Amino acid sequence: MPIYEYEPENGDCKTCGGRFELRRPVDRAPLTACPLCRKPVSKVVSLTHSPKIARPLSVSQAKNAGFSVLQRRDHGVYEKL
Ligand SMILES: [Zn+2]
Repeated sequence: MPIYEYEPENGDCKTCGGRFELRRPVDRAPLTACPLCRKPVSKVVSLTHSPKIARPLSVSQAKNAGFSVLQRRDHGVYEKL
């Protein structure tokens, strides 16, 4: 289950500390109000939870991330790098 980070849309919240994390099923609608103080909140896009890939991965980066890198040599022939 992913952890979502929320923060109040205006100002601080004394009840939840201004920012809180919530474990929520993916198919659940995003939270719109703080469960503690009922202030409107918005989801914080956290880079650690949903990394955006801005540029293509290099072979070594892909390997470090645990991928097997295959390079196409011929029709139907792949070499594992
Ligand atoms: Zn709150």
